[in-house]
Amino acid sequence: MQTPKVVILGAGYGGLITSRQLEKTLLNGEAQVTLINKHDYHYISTQLHKTVAGTASDEKITLHIPDLLKTDKIQFKKGTVQGVNFTSKKVQLESGEFIDYDYLMIGLGFDVSTFGIPGVEENAFKIKSFRSTKAIYNHVLRQFAAYKEDLDPSRLTFAVAGAGFTGIEMIGELIEAMPKLCLKYDIPVSATRIINIEASASVLPGFNKEAIDFTESYFKKNGVELMTSTKILECSPTTITLDNGEELPSRTLIWSGGVRGNTLLEKLDLPISKGRINIDKFLRVQGMENVFCIGDAALFLKEDGTPLPPTAQVAIQQAEVCGPNLIASLRGEQLKAFEYHHKGTVASIGNKAAVGKVFGLKISGLFAALMKQVIEARYLFVLGGPGLVIKQFLKIGKPHS
Ligand code: FAD
Repeated sequence: MQTPKVVILGAGYGGLITSRQLEKTLLNGEAQVTLINKHDYHYISTQLHKTVAGTASDEKITLHIPDLLKTDKIQFKKGTVQGVNFTSKKVQLESGEFIDYDYLMIGLGFDVSTFGIPGVEENAFKIKSFRSTKAIYNHVLRQFAAYKEDLDPSRLTFAVAGAGFTGIEMIGELIEAMPKLCLKYDIPVSATRIINIEASASVLPGFNKEAIDFTESYFKKNGVELMTSTKILECSPTTITLDNGEELPSRTLIWSGGVRGNTLLEKLDLPISKGRINIDKFLRVQGMENVFCIGDAALFLKEDGTPLPPTAQVAIQQAEVCGPNLIASLRGEQLKAFEYHHKGTVASIGNKAAVGKVFGLKISGLFAALMKQVIEARYLFVLGGPGLVIKQFLKIGKPHS
């Protein structure tokens, strides 16, 4: 009998933790596993807002994938997935190469939803990948340099669309970054504006009142202009049009208005809702026994019929079940149903403050910021053990200047 081939698409939270599970449990020679990812580095998506603001070094945000694979049970292949033929069981890469599989795991992550608002797709900046966030950072630097020449205030007006989880975290990093950038370019901080535009009546819809109040007063204290109950109607390279009639001169709209599944998923001819693939309780694509899907790419419905949110917490917990289920499938054993256990949510507002709820306890301020670091460290621990945690913390986290 031929050795079964397992192919994992995407080395994000879902793909990497699934790989770790396979490394731990597969016997030597039991399966041939290939992990495919667009780049040879994994980016820590939950910290991408730091790359936008230049508040963390690239080395802290990206990890070399081959270094994370502990054994030769997993082969890493750098490649961009273009399609999958589920009949002939082949993954097609952009390079024209085809990769055969017997079992497939789709962990291709998220794309940004722009809801068809005119000009947003073309002109707003999206927190989507390490590359996209690096491009925003370089754009921000160009605005500072150009302001020295033309003193055009639209260059230093930084708007963030959305005051949900990601929007708040983005604003927090901008608050930290502005004084440093101003110092570097010898520009007064008073020349800069940070604006947060949110359609709902408050920041952090769905969070507790204490978290909302803490965040709004933190923004006020730090000069953030908060525009709640305000919708963006249009965005051009130099202007943001709001539904209150205002034309906001800004060359930087950072879009944190929402996420959806990777747009590639729509081309795969699989059961899909709201841009995400419908999966069963064993994390398999509905109606398929040999194709699994987890993380932001997957739509998992809870017992009450509501979907699990696209979070790293969900992706990691799913991966911890998906790995053993892949192995059970190839051994012909019983699969385990996935159950989600929500441990809490903490949104950082820069390095020194955060808000959220952990194990039912409401937290805010510096303690919450420390808690956020513990959560990030736990992920590194699951991925690479204590060695990786220490290595990442010891890395000179020198931010960009
Ligand atoms: P991803 O981590 O997005 O990984 C997908 C992988 O697939 C990537 O490596 C990508 O390069 C690769 N890929 C994509 N397309 C292709 C292709 N065509 N071919 C090959 N490879 C491809 N969640 C939390 O729980 N807590 C938080 O605090 C939190 N903070 C966040 C802050 C920000 C700024 C953002 C953007 C998200 C945050 N999230 C948070 C959400 C979290 O990051 C995602 O839910 C999580 O990354 C999903 O993991 P995933 O494995 O499904 O996908």
